[in-house]
Amino acid sequence: MNILKQTKTQTGKNIEFLGLNSTADNPKNILFIGVTHGEEPQGKFLIENFIREIKEKNLSFKNNLFFIPCLNPDGFEKKQRGNANNVDLNRNFKTKNWIKTTFDDGTTSGEKPFSEKESLFLGEIVDKYKFDIILSLHAPFEIVNFDGNAKDIAEKISEIINYPVQESIGYPTPGSFGTFAGIERNIPTITLELSDKESIETLYKSCREIFMYLATA
Ligand SMILES: [Zn+2]
Repeated sequence: MNILKQTKTQTGKNIEFLGLNSTADNPKNILFIGVTHGEEPQGKFLIENFIREIKEKNLSFKNNLFFIPCLNPDGFEKKQRGNANNVDLNRNFKTKNWIKTTFDDGTTSGEKPFSEKESLFLGEIVDKYKFDIILSLHAPFEIVNFDGNAKDIAEKISEIINYPVQESIGYPTPGSFGTFAGIERNIPTITLELSDKESIETLYKSCREIFMYLATA
């Protein structure tokens, strides 16, 4: 497991992009993302659990695995949705449908697309690495949302975790990561909305199975 790229938020916290190379032939590149929204800490704990298990058991997989355990460390620390600028990172990606706006919860979509270091960091990684599947962990809606050609993958994940597949989340999401990666770049992109009522230990039981499925897909 190597640190492939890192950056600092505007308050100086580290964001890390980690990678674990496969030695198999023709591996796919799989990216796991946690904590786009600061008040959804589950992704960081689940990805860190998985990384710990990989290291402890010296696991290797068919696919190349990449991780951003915590995209929004400032929001994570403050337990707030937005980053330190109160920007909802999932509305700050450079997409055709980006709009400058303030949301009901007080977060904004940013001054311009990619105005925020966190979203720019992820956007640059997506454009540099050719990912075959991306899984972004959110909470609390208990659904498997997908963008791009990811219906089969979404259905498999739905079977494992027993949440329904939902193609649209039910409200418009201009500037979202799903639009950036899934719709505009055609990368199968899963937004997994986890329960916020289950313990990390319980969530890890199904998420570990999902991670293992993607690691060998
Ligand atoms: Zn979220």
